[in-house]
Amino acid sequence: MCTYALLAHNSSGYLIQCKTCGHFQFAFGTTELIMTGIELDEFQAKLAKEKYPLSDCGAIHRKTIRVTVVDSKVALALSPYEAKELIDMIDEAKAAIEVNALLCQLE
Ligand SMILES: [Zn+2]
Repeated sequence: MCTYALLAHNSSGYLIQCKTCGHFQFAFGTTELIMTGIELDEFQAKLAKEKYPLSDCGAIHRKTIRVTVVDSKVALALSPYEAKELIDMIDEAKAAIEVNALLCQLE
């Protein structure tokens, strides 16, 4: 049975990791995805490759960005604002994982 640790959250969603099997689950807007660590890394890399015109106020909330989900026909449609929120959430989760790993080494 999966038990989860909350790694990051913001007003649009959250990212959690199963303490038993290690998979990640994140909710963002109305979408919820489950990924392995490798898949999350690939998804994060795809997000990082996109261009985000955050200085263009008119475009910041338009869904101009498509990021496909690993090996599927599903893509997230994101505005630059949402993409930035998602990138920040994944970065926060990765930082939490590193902190937890360091704390485990100290125990
Ligand atoms: Zn699990």
